[in-house]
Order: sequence, then structure tokens, then C-alpha cells
Amino acid sequence: MDDKKWAWERLNEKDVNEFAMEYIQFLSHVKTERESVEYIKTLAEAHDFKPIDSIEKLLPGDKVYSIFKNKMILLAVIGEKNPVDGLRFIGAHIDAPRLDLKPSPLYEDSGIALLKTHYYGGIKKYQWVNIPLAIHGVVVLKDGTKKHIVIGEDPKDPTFVIPDLLPHLARKKQGERKGFDIVKGEELRILVGNKPAKVEEDKKVKDKVKKMILDILSEKYGISEEDFISADLEIVPAIKPREAGFDRSMIAAYGQDDRICAYTTLRAILDVTKPKETCIAVFVDREEIGSDGNAGAKSRFLEVFIGDLIEKFNGSATERDVLKAFINSRAISADVDAAVNPIYKDVHDTQNAGYLGKGVIVTKYTGAGGKYGASEAHAEFMAWIRRIFDKRAVPWQPGLLGKVDEGGGGTIAKYFAERGIDVVDIGPGLIGMHSPYEISSKADLYSAYLAYKTFFEEE
Ligand code: MN
Ligand code: MN
Repeated sequence: MDDKKWAWERLNEKDVNEFAMEYIQFLSHVKTERESVEYIKTLAEAHDFKPIDSIEKLLPGDKVYSIFKNKMILLAVIGEKNPVDGLRFIGAHIDAPRLDLKPSPLYEDSGIALLKTHYYGGIKKYQWVNIPLAIHGVVVLKDGTKKHIVIGEDPKDPTFVIPDLLPHLARKKQGERKGFDIVKGEELRILVGNKPAKVEEDKKVKDKVKKMILDILSEKYGISEEDFISADLEIVPAIKPREAGFDRSMIAAYGQDDRICAYTTLRAILDVTKPKETCIAVFVDREEIGSDGNAGAKSRFLEVFIGDLIEKFNGSATERDVLKAFINSRAISADVDAAVNPIYKDVHDTQNAGYLGKGVIVTKYTGAGGKYGASEAHAEFMAWIRRIFDKRAVPWQPGLLGKVDEGGGGTIAKYFAERGIDVVDIGPGLIGMHSPYEISSKADLYSAYLAYKTFFEEE
């Protein structure tokens, strides 16, 4: 809507651009939840955050963190108030849609070695073919040795590609399929080799190209075919994040849902010094598939962390103390929303939608069809958010995901709400969300950082 104010006009362009370039750097290196945890930990330690277990008595101003399963990390800056009387949470997710390798992925067909995948999260599968892909993750050998793998990011590395069908022969095979199934899940297979291994003549080897790949894996990485069973290997786009547009106003990159919120949340908590209420940044895995799993937003690890925090502040903590701390708390579910895509405007109620470049979007409720599966922020809480954002001149706009009954989606907000916490979804809008190359606005990125900082700092 034209009557919405531009975030650009309310921000310092130099600050916005500097922040955006740092964010682009972050996105070029961090493409998985494990890499996110590692990055957050490194930056937190450089800002004096200590492992919570290393500190006996917590005092106001102390900074602590805790990691669970290498896929979830919590950062806290201790406030003056008793934590039982309330905490400030901002939660972002560090997983993103991608393709995972199957436990037995490798095979040979027609002289080509391929890897089988299973997609993770809500993707449009046809977007993932014939683009450069990289492999990120870990392989844990039977003896526990962990091999970290990143192949396809360095310009000297090889790349990986899923082959699409040429248009000349696709008229029937793909042309008659429905849009979402133009490429099917089982067709997302990655080309990894096309050269036979040299085998002595008396030895009978059926799949020589597959053997070549196994030889390389063994030689270069010490991995055998069976080791794929104990691996977390993710296939992600290897397209470089960049500024987009003649005016360089936007950012095109993979994984911005939700690392744009993870990054801005991290930057916001690094700025917090002596807060009244304890501020906590929560970075979780598994949001894209419903937050299930022990390192997702449903994880009881959050309760354990809050219990530890109360005990180290007050000298003791009961289960009731933890529950009460939640009941007295406020939270932002830091997640992206869909900004209006001018080419497909009609899926939005344009009067209630968020727009690119007009500030961070405050989404009162998510869900689908009759608000099902959603958490909704109370009017009182929404009023407080409006008050603090306007007081600090944060560029923000109200927004909803789409038209009624057009579709929908959820976030981690409802898992905060389940614990009794007042919560609302706040994050930048994206265009082309869940694609291999999502678009955000530099001004919205900076607005998100300001919004999260304000939430941590304001009364
Ligand atoms: Mn998200
Ligand atoms: Mn998502």
C-alpha cells in the first residue's frame, strides 16, 4: 500500500548498507543448523558469553550460553529482576528447506553415479533442478570420529546438479503433471560421477562408476558407503548471496527464512548490556517440519536452561518456578512473513499484507483456514509492541501471510504460547520464500535488528 511509510526514509543508509554487507558475509558461510550454532557460539564467545555450566552464581549483566545436540543454542544476558518474575525471549529457527541424503544414497544407472535425497521442508521441487548445489554436514564413523564436510562452495570445488528433463522430451512426461509435481520427490537425484574406476581384468565389478566414487570418498574423506547411515548431509544451493537490483536495495540469497531473523536476533542480543529483565535468544532447529525433534522449539531443553538460570540466580529452582517464569514472560517469534509479490498480488489481502522495504512485519496471527494451528497475540500485548516500536522509531508494519483460505503456515510462536508466554511473530518480509534464492530488503533487515533490540531494551 502506498500509504505505508518507507523504512528507507527513516533509517541511516550507511548503517543499513554496512549491516547488510555483514549479513551477506554470514549467509555465504552459514548454510546449516550446525554451522549456525557454530557461528553464533563463536560470535557470542567473542562478546564475553560463557557456558552456563561454567558459572556458579549468576549476577545482573552476566552473559551465558548453552548448546544442545549441536543444533540448538540459547544465549542469555542476565537482568536485574528475579527471572521468576519474567524473561524476554526472542526465538528464531536456524534450519531451512533443503535436500537431505538418504541413508543409502549412492547408485549407478546408465553410466552415471547418483545420490538419492529426501527433501526437507516445504519446497517447490522444480526449483532445485539444474542449479549449482553444495553438500554440507557431518559423517560420524562407527568409532565416533566426526568428519565435517563442505563441498561445492569454494570456486575450486566441483559442484553438484540435479538433472531436469530437456523440453524436447518433456511435453508428455512433465507437461501433463500438476505444477507441484513437475519434478517429483524421487526425481531429486544428484549427479556425482561419470568415470569408470580402473579395475583389474580378472575382477568382476558391476558398477565401475559407483566404485570410482567410493574410492574417492574413502581416499579423500575416509568414508565408506555404510558411513552414510550415520551422517547428517544436507544439499543446499551453492549460489552466492548478493545485493539485488540496480539500486542494490535488496538481498538475494538462500536460507533467509529464517537466518535473516537468526542473524538480527544475534546482533540484537550482542548489544544488550545491563537489562532489567533477563534477555534470552533462542535458536532452534526443525521449524520447517513442525518443530518436532529434541532440538526444536518443542524441546524441553528450554525448561532445563531456564531452571539452571533461576537456580544460579536465586540459589534454588523448583519446577513451579520455571513454569511461573514462563507465565510472566514476553516473546517475539522472530520469523519471516511473505511480502507482497507484485506478480502474484491476488493471493494477498493487499490491505492486510506486508510490503518489501516498509519495515519489519508484525503478524498478529498465523495459521490457516479459520486461524487453525495458530497462536494469536493478545490485544494488550500488541498495544505494548506498537508503543515501544513507535517510541524508538522502529520502521514496522502490520501484516498477515495471505488471503483467508488461500493457504497458510505456522511458526514457533505457538510453542512459546503453550508455555504461557505472551508472543507475537515479527520479522522481515521475503519474496520467493523457500526458494533456492530468496529476496529480502536491506531496510527491512535493519528494521528487524532495531525491532529486536528495542524489544530487549524497552520497559
Ligand atoms: Mn520461518
Ligand atoms: Mn519456512
